[in-house]
This record gives sequence, structure tokens and C-alpha cells, in this order.
Amino acid sequence: MPTDVEELLDALAADPGREALVHRDRRIHAGELVRSVHRLAHVLDGRVRPGTVVALLAGNTPEALVARMAVNLLGAGIAQPHEGLSAAARARIVVDVEAAVVLADADAAAAAEPVLARLDGPAALWLGAHGADPDVLAEADGAPASPIRDRARPHDVEQIRHTGGTTGHPKGITYTFDHHRRGAEMRRRLTGLGADGGGDGDGGARLLVATPVAHVGGALADRTLASGGTVVLQDGFEPGAFLAAVARERITHTFLLPPLIYRLLDHPDLDRTDTSSLRSVVYGGAPAAPRRMAEAVERIGPVFAQFYGQTEAGGISALTPQEHSRPELLGTVGRPLPTTEIAITDADGRPVAPGGRGELWVRTGMEMDGYWKQPELTAATVVDGWVRTGDVARQDADGYLHLLDRVKDMIVVVGGHVYTTELEDLLMEHPSVRQAAVFGVPDDDGTETVHAAVVAGSPAPDEDELTALVAERAGDMYVPRSVEFVERIPLTGVGKTDKKALRAELAAQPR
Ligand code: AMP
Repeated sequence: MPTDVEELLDALAADPGREALVHRDRRIHAGELVRSVHRLAHVLDGRVRPGTVVALLAGNTPEALVARMAVNLLGAGIAQPHEGLSAAARARIVVDVEAAVVLADADAAAAAEPVLARLDGPAALWLGAHGADPDVLAEADGAPASPIRDRARPHDVEQIRHTGGTTGHPKGITYTFDHHRRGAEMRRRLTGLGADGGGDGDGGARLLVATPVAHVGGALADRTLASGGTVVLQDGFEPGAFLAAVARERITHTFLLPPLIYRLLDHPDLDRTDTSSLRSVVYGGAPAAPRRMAEAVERIGPVFAQFYGQTEAGGISALTPQEHSRPELLGTVGRPLPTTEIAITDADGRPVAPGGRGELWVRTGMEMDGYWKQPELTAATVVDGWVRTGDVARQDADGYLHLLDRVKDMIVVVGGHVYTTELEDLLMEHPSVRQAAVFGVPDDDGTETVHAAVVAGSPAPDEDELTALVAERAGDMYVPRSVEFVERIPLTGVGKTDKKALRAELAAQPR
């Protein structure tokens, strides 16, 4: 069974003249990409050893993909703390994974330097010119492009992905090379669901990646390259640039988080952009508001597919493009994938009655291989292949899953719980609310009070209108103590609502 990288390199080598990567004004053909990977692997051979971990400090560049492939080909794992994290958080991750080698992309030097300044390990190897530092890309120019035999051993770490990391011990989620074998098998069983992003088998996919290649974007890029498509890389998500790229590059596939979709919908260029090339917009990673998704389908077309999954658990459920034509389903995360078993449990881990709410446990066959160096946390999260998702859910009589909240975001109020996702969806039912985020603030009596931040459209709603809507539809317990009107809701580096930053921003505001 070939590894991820071998499969990808074979697919690229089979069609060397195909346009594989587009970044800024560069167009890289498949044959050139394969040669770059082998050349860099020759240069790193001996410095990067099988079974070790390499940290990569890079943005969404071709070099970041080439470096990851070269490192994996040499049998080493990669940890890629993305640029959306602070320098301190990225440095903590590099230390946590005990990186044997740090690779830094010269294109991202300004973001990499403050990370490197916090480390006292070996000096970085640079991808590109950086003063007098060693430049492995320059060395690679003179290296042979002859194929390097894959050094990967099945049980070694291929990738460590971090979630959180802003405080405390970063949670590194590990996948071994063997995880890929299970992934390939799973994809075969799920063919037709569009679960593979750009890999729908027709070979002509053009995938736009505007979210970090260190997250879902990178995995989708691999699938697209492996199935004959082209990947267009953007340095980050900016709605105007995103729309321009869709039209210019005739993009067929992309992946977005819901808050980024809202930004597209609220951008003046959307209605004058030709988005007719789009065939599949996969979204997920955070809750999506039904009213806004109905708007997206109406204005962009019947191309949306929702995925619900987790770095720890893998893919859990999907809502197909056809199901998006039924408005009552837009508040759900679809039905479990045919390969996923679910259980909804009470606080003691016992199944709740059908239709009841509780923590969702899932068995996907694609769960992580554990948290990096945190066996107790792994044991508490994965039991016999069942992963505790930390999400509160219920399943309706037709099998659709409704996500109510993250267990840790639920707000404990006098008289019960307020589910923040539910309240956010309700606020966004108001036609003048573009985006909403709800969070709790601790009160003196051990409970919390509910607060909301809202990005208003025009005409702006007033606070009383919103609280009346909430009181009528959800009851007084859900009514926020305060509603702040904000210009923009802060997002994490991958594009999720950053409730921690929002709380801090609002707390710092003069009253
Ligand atoms: P990550 O590991 O970064 O992919 O985050 C996984 C978490 O994001 C899940 O546990 C959910 O809380 C949330 N999430 C992922 N997909 C969806 C979705 N389609 N709808 C709502 N929340 C989602």
C-alpha cells in the first residue's frame, strides 16, 4: 500500500504537463512539482530522519506543500503551526513536538522570525534566501531529481495537527502513516458523497484554498492533486480576492467555514462576480446559520455540501447539495456518514432516550492515533474507537443530527443551560443580523450571564427588537443581558468565531 505522498507523486508524475499549483503569478506543472519534492528530499536526506518530527513555519505557498511532501517521503512527521496563531503559541508547538529540524519559508520570514527568536534549539533551515542562513531551496536547485524511495514506516507519525494552543499545553492530534491506509479505504466507501473535496474523479477540478494548508485546506489540496486537479493557493481569506480568483481561475471546488461564507455574502462584489464555474462548495468546521445558508444557496447556487467532522474523530456527518433545497434541513449537520456510528449520551456516558440531547460519541474508523504525548487525555477521549466529540447533539426521527453547542461553550444560567449555537442561529434569523456570537460571562453566584455580539446589516435592528425575538421564540432564559453591535466578529486563524478574543475585546471596551 503506497503512502499518501507516494500516491500523490505517482498521480502527478503520470500527467506531468498538467497545471498543478497556482500561487500569485506562478503556475507550477505537475512534473515540476514532483521534481521539486525529490530535489528537496535529496537535500534533506540525512538531516531529516525517519520517525522524527519536523516543524514547518510557512504560509499557503507551493513551498509549504513541497516541504511537507519531502519530509513525509523521508519518513518523518510534520507539524505546521499556522500563521493565525501568535508567535508564542507557534513556538510552544515547535517545542512540544520536539522538532528535530525547523524549516522556515523565507516568504513568511516576518511571521517566522519571532517564533525562532523564542527557541533555543538548532538554527532553522530556510526555504528561500534569508540573509546568510542556510537556504535548502538553493541547494535543491543543484540536487538530483531522481525519485527517493519512500522511507515511511506505518506506525510513525505523519502529521501532528494542533487545536487551540493559545494557552496551556497545546493539544497535538497525531496521525500515523498507517492512518492514510484507513483513509484511502474510507474514501472508497464514501465515493459520491463529495467527501474528498476536489477529488470527485473527473480530473478537472480546480480547487481554491484560502484557509490554512495546515488545516483542512491542505488535506483537500492533496486529494485534488491526487485525482488530477489543480490547486489555486491564496495567502489567506479576503472576500474580494477570493471572488476575483473564483472568476479568473474558473474555480470548481472550494472549502470554507461558515463565517467566511457570510463575509462573501456581505461583500459588494458578490453580485457582480461570475461564480458559475463553482460545482462544489464544501463547508463545515463551525456552526452554520440556516437563514444565511439559504441565502448562500439562492445567490451562489445549489453547490453547497456541509460536512461535520473533527480533527480528533474524522468525518461524522454530511448534508448533501440536494438536501440544501429543503430549508428545514439547513439547521442540521445532515445524517451520519454510512461509515460512522453514533451514540448520544448523558453525563455518565449512558445513551439518552431517542430524540434526547446529550454529548455525541462517534465511531468513524478514522479517529486520530492519539494526542501527542498525552496518553491520559487520549484515554479520556477515545474509548474502544469511540471518540467523545465534546459536542452536544440530538438526532431527529429522520436521522438528522442537530448540533446545539460545544459542551464547554454551553452557558449555565439560573434555571438551566443556554446553547450558544441555538441562540446564534435565532439571532441570525433576523434579516438585519449578518453574524452573531454568543458567550457567557461568570456571575458571582456560580452561574453565568448570556451576552451577544452582533454584526448588523442595514437597517440596523435595535437591541429591544432582538431581545423581543429571543423572548418570543426561545423564552426569557435565552434573552442576552447585553447585545453589542460590532463591526466584525474576530475569527481564529482557521476561520472560526474566536469567542475568547471577542470576550476580551468587549471587556476592554470603555462603558
Ligand atoms: P476541528 O477539529 O478544528 O475541525 O473542529 C471540530 C469542531 O468544529 C467540532 O467538534 C464541532 O464543534 C465544530 N464543527 C465542525 N464541523 C461543523 C459543522 N458542520 N457544523 C457545526 N459545527 C461543526
